[in-house]
Amino acid sequence: MVILDSIEQMNAIAEQCEYFSPEYKNMSNSKEVIDKGINCTMCLHYDNGKCGIKDEILTSMDQT
Ligand code: SF4
Repeated sequence: MVILDSIEQMNAIAEQCEYFSPEYKNMSNSKEVIDKGINCTMCLHYDNGKCGIKDEILTSMDQT
């Protein structure tokens, strides 16, 4: 099954992910992050959606 993650979903994931690594320095000061928060597409580990940590967090969120 292919899961297309919405930005809202990736935002929730990134907020609780301890491995989040900003794509560039000072990203947390950028307007986009201040307005909308972080999400997985801004992370070095994202790798076009192939991040395994993301799937793990998503699975644990699904179980609630
Ligand atoms: S892409 Fe992966 S490592 Fe990065 S914030 Fe999302 S789940 Fe965490």
